[in-house]
Amino acid sequence: MARADHFDVIIIGTGAGGGTLAYKLAPSGKRILLLERGGYVPREKDNWSTKAVNLEGKYQTKEVWLDSNGDPLHPHTNYYVGGNTKFYGAALFRLRREDFGEIKHSGGISPAWPISYEDIEPYYTQAERLYHVHGQRGEDPTEPPASAPYPHPPVSHEPRIQHLSDDFARLGLRPFHTPLGVMLDEQNPHKSRCIRCETCDGHPCLVYAKSDAQVLCVDPALEHPNVTLLTNAYVSRLETSPSGREVTKVIVQRNGATEGYSANIVVVSCGAINSAALLLRSVNDKHPRGLANGSDVVGRHYMGHVNSVLMAISKCPNPTVFQKSLSVNDFYFGSKEWSYPMGHISFVGKLDRDTLRAGAPAIAPGFTLDLMAKHSLDFWLTSEDLPDPDNRVILDHKGNIVLVYTPNNEEGHQRLIAKLKELMQQQAKCQDHGHECHVGLFARNLFLGQRIPLAGVAHQNGTIRFGRDPKTSALDVNCKAHEVDNLYVVDASFFPSSGAVNPALTIMANALRVGDHLLKRLR
Ligand SMILES: Cc1cc2nc3c(=O)[nH]c(=O)nc-3n(C[C@H](O)[C@H](O)[C@H](O)COP(=O)(O)OP(=O)(O)OC[C@H]3O[C@@H](n4cnc5c(N)ncnc54)[C@H](O)[C@@H]3O)c2cc1C
Ligand code: SF4
Repeated sequence: MARADHFDVIIIGTGAGGGTLAYKLAPSGKRILLLERGGYVPREKDNWSTKAVNLEGKYQTKEVWLDSNGDPLHPHTNYYVGGNTKFYGAALFRLRREDFGEIKHSGGISPAWPISYEDIEPYYTQAERLYHVHGQRGEDPTEPPASAPYPHPPVSHEPRIQHLSDDFARLGLRPFHTPLGVMLDEQNPHKSRCIRCETCDGHPCLVYAKSDAQVLCVDPALEHPNVTLLTNAYVSRLETSPSGREVTKVIVQRNGATEGYSANIVVVSCGAINSAALLLRSVNDKHPRGLANGSDVVGRHYMGHVNSVLMAISKCPNPTVFQKSLSVNDFYFGSKEWSYPMGHISFVGKLDRDTLRAGAPAIAPGFTLDLMAKHSLDFWLTSEDLPDPDNRVILDHKGNIVLVYTPNNEEGHQRLIAKLKELMQQQAKCQDHGHECHVGLFARNLFLGQRIPLAGVAHQNGTIRFGRDPKTSALDVNCKAHEVDNLYVVDASFFPSSGAVNPALTIMANALRVGDHLLKRLR
């Protein structure tokens, strides 16, 4: 008889990586244990309160990390079943085909991946189906080839966003519908699970209509009797056999007690910062620099994108409810004037007064925060940061997480911001003010920019990179640790470079890819 504390597979963390892998492995009948440090996000009206979510940080972890000066860092991250997908904006992009090769940036080199776009393409298609992605192929000028259409039609633009899209098109750009994981049926609104509300990005979905890893992966996986989930189960350490070649025990803190579990295969998927911290905490005689860290890359090459939220204030109000439907990738690889990559332009969810109070920009002259929020288009700009070995996760002597990060490769991002400013000044679609709707405001520097501070770790990745050379990577191409025979990592840690689009779909697709490998191994 099987021991109650021994499993075929243990998966640590239930977010984009771990949750998706659980879904993939569940039908195999293998005994699978999911260990998740958080509980379920409580279902309550505060799910959709910007005051509770953004101003009070009700659902955010209260854990305190440190920055390189030893100052406290309150990370904007969430520990729940489903991980950060419970809170994400569900913009589900494929990396570009070129992102898998080496790319020259003004700030240095974005290294190639050990697999090609073609290797992961079938899994992107599966992930788009699993996560109900709505989009339109053929619109995005940089999109990679796909073997299937999007499974659902694009989310339509509201009038103000359609105006902007028309203006961008008139200026020669190819704006496109953002691929989105929301279970919206615009043809049959009475049946649609998603009600297209303004509190999606950054908020949990009260009606379970967002394509998150809990609703679409963990809950269905748990319908299989061979899958068990332990919540509030914090994995503090992994122990190995005397040879150091196998993880033999997963140490868990739960309900104030220490428990131990074992499995033939152990998969770490705690998010790029916590996964690195877990391996670093698991030092032993055979792994003196941290588990699977003979290469000394674990914790290094932390990336999180160069991100900005930019509010373009106009004379006319912006009554849009669901703002995230439009993106622009025309400058992803550069522009006529600049031959290096610049990045991706899209939107955050509509900002309101309470959200602005949480990270208030300078007040535009003549505006209150409330008025600013009502008159703004709220852009999200992402550029690629490069994998610098000195940008890293370390532990202090008490075991606290320390995040050391110096931004890099910023010139392309500054140029992207300048490009957007220029484009906004050429808006013409406003029937009342034409160009003037924006031009006057820009002239008075009312285009406000705020770089996401270090605590914004939403796009964390890169800390346990995969590769073919054990000297320069911790994981092999199947995301198995080079130095440990039964240890895998499937969260965003494996990225050797990050591209400039949102990471979640790539994490999900990779988890499905690794899942295929594990199913063969488990046979
Ligand atoms: C506000 C916000 C908006 C975002 N919007 C987008 C978007 O629109 N598009 C996009 O692609 N991405 C977006 N992201 C990023 C996206 O959510 C992440 O890239 C993705 O969730 C990362 O997946 P992961 O598996 O690496 O980690 P996570 O999803 O963070 O999952 C890690 C899990 O591990 C658990 N865990 C951690 N440590 C331990 C431990 N020691 N023991 C046990 N369990 C542990 C955590 O509780 C968590 O459940 C957004 C993120 C945020 C916060
Ligand atoms: S109802 Fe739709 S728009 Fe609102 S939070 Fe849920 S998925 Fe997002």
